[in-house]
Amino acid sequence: MRNMALSLIEEKKLSRENLTQNDIDYFRKKYGKKFIRALRVVEENKVEKYQFKPSGTITWIVKGRTRQYLVIPRVYCTCRSFYQEVVISRESNMCYHLLAQQIAELRDQYKLVDSNDTERRKLYVDWRRTD
Ligand SMILES: [Zn+2]
Repeated sequence: MRNMALSLIEEKKLSRENLTQNDIDYFRKKYGKKFIRALRVVEENKVEKYQFKPSGTITWIVKGRTRQYLVIPRVYCTCRSFYQEVVISRESNMCYHLLAQQIAELRDQYKLVDSNDTERRKLYVDWRRTD
């Protein structure tokens, strides 16, 4: 499987508060519409980091239009396009949720949600769905 992580240079660009036009052009060229969508969900605060107690488990969620997607940073997303474009056809190396999670983490721009492990088991039933 291809590397889904952003390069160090890309990380540096994205962690700046304001992207330059050059940066935007670069990312649009490389990631296309996915970049624009990812940036939008970050700016709409749709990336959430859950911290569950007492286990200390951390789970990243990106809210889509109709459901929430579970994202394992740089590795996996439960959305359909990840499955189709990354796993099956290999035409891409990430979906916009994975990109959004990375941007959100770099910028510290996500919603932190404190929860507990009992709640986690309930949430996971929904988050694990891959349809
Ligand atoms: Zn996804």
